[in-house]
Amino acid sequence: MNTIQQSLQNVRSRIDAAAQGCERLPEEVVLLAVSKTKPVEAIAEAIAAGQRAFGENYVQEGVDKIQYFAQRPEGADLEWHFIGPLQSNKSKLVAEHFAWCHTIDRLRIAQRLNEQRPSGLPPLNVLIQINISDEQSKSGIVLSELPALATAVAALPNITLRGLMAIPAPEDDYQRQLVVFRKMHDAFLALKHCSPQVDTLSMGMTDDMVAAIAAGSTMVRIGTAIFGARDYTQ
Ligand SMILES: *Cc1c(COP(=O)(O)O)cnc(C)c1O
Repeated sequence: MNTIQQSLQNVRSRIDAAAQGCERLPEEVVLLAVSKTKPVEAIAEAIAAGQRAFGENYVQEGVDKIQYFAQRPEGADLEWHFIGPLQSNKSKLVAEHFAWCHTIDRLRIAQRLNEQRPSGLPPLNVLIQINISDEQSKSGIVLSELPALATAVAALPNITLRGLMAIPAPEDDYQRQLVVFRKMHDAFLALKHCSPQVDTLSMGMTDDMVAAIAAGSTMVRIGTAIFGARDYTQ
């Protein structure tokens, strides 16, 4: 077994153990493999190990990989998630190529994705990004803005509001990770209450996935633990 297969298996076991540890079903937690900066060969290894859902942060890099795998037999049924900050001038590529976008933080970008989603494709699945703990970060809305944005986004026909996403400020302490993730889970339950199609809470990365699952995450976004450390110098 190669390294990526082994790492994927380890991550899946950690997800299963974390879910069982809090009396949740392992299948309630989707594993999104974050492949940003990684070559198609690494993604192909993950596909061979059974991984179907991949997350990319940079629009053009993601589109190149989507197009590469679209022409290959092993690329059938892959699900591509855009998880990076989205600028207006790149929204068309996301609308045309991805199945999900996790980083909706303003109505204008949701409207553009809605207008630009090709009619032959199913609606784009979107998550609203919440700035839950990191006051420095400019990504995401504050929770008080959620009801109005969610209502407006949910009304757009070519995108489907599936839930919420957050990238909390880095925090080593498990209990403090939990406090932040629980705030997200409360917001998720409130949103679900008004929008029955909402089913996805995207939170948890390599260093905080166990706390995220304990707090109710339904989708963890894991890069380093699967593909190894990233090299941004190239
Ligand atoms: C890079 C990235 C991840 C993966 O982080 P790791 O710590 O490598 O698991 C998850 N989510 C987002 C939004 C990212 O940009």
